Amino acid sequence: MRIPRFYVTDALTVGQAFPLPDSTFRHAVQVLRLNVGEPLILFNGEGGEYAAQIHNVSKRSASVLIEAFAEIDTESPLQLTLVQAIIKPDKMDFALQKAVELGVATFQPLVTQRSVARIGKEKVDKKMQHWEGIMVAACEQSGRTRMPQLNAPLELDDWLEQPFEGTRLILAPGDYPRINSLPLDLPTPVALLIGPEGGFSDAEVASCVQAGVTPVSLGPRILRAETASITALALLQHHYGDL
Ligand code: SAM
Repeated sequence: MRIPRFYVTDALTVGQAFPLPDSTFRHAVQVLRLNVGEPLILFNGEGGEYAAQIHNVSKRSASVLIEAFAEIDTESPLQLTLVQAIIKPDKMDFALQKAVELGVATFQPLVTQRSVARIGKEKVDKKMQHWEGIMVAACEQSGRTRMPQLNAPLELDDWLEQPFEGTRLILAPGDYPRINSLPLDLPTPVALLIGPEGGFSDAEVASCVQAGVTPVSLGPRILRAETASITALALLQHHYGDL
């Protein structure tokens, strides 16, 4: 049976009796019904993971004994940033979950001219917490030991103004070179921009090109934004990363 993995934000030490945070207690004990003596894995997103076993369980809390540290590294050598235009909430969640599984180092939500889904200023914090929860669950499930960075949403122009060392790509359907034709010695890290349901406007693509972002295509068929992001991330990890 697969040993369940849990992300915690605390520093962890081998030999320590560690009280599980409330949300981990609920998941480990109340949902998965782990009991005294059963194994689990903890990681805190800073690399490596800790083998532990349930030490003590009461009605409202539990503690674990941390037994060993393993220097496990599941991170890709390719530092990838997904700059994903905000799309409908369920699709955005899906794109984020798959991006974490596919090893992105940074997730940057982008506000674009044709973004149908809008996030009011007062709702940004709540949305960030929701996205963080998706990232945590995807790291727990996929065996990642480092937590990707989640940035607050930015307008395209503001993102373009930020310094970036490496290669910036914009996925746009049309008569652009295929993503597969990029050179083998592509400067890294790589940032990949994906548009919303209605695509980037011509003006947005032009601003990107003017700012030095390379437009690339995924072939003749128009893919949904979330399909495009999975496809492009997989291709980039295949050519330059660890797939
Ligand atoms: N009619 C829109 C357009 O022409 O851009 C379609 C947008 S598509 C549903 C959403 C996003 O996925 C696009 O903005 C682009 O980033 C990406 N995409 C989808 N199919 C693509 C393809 N064949 N080549 C490059 N990018 C693609």
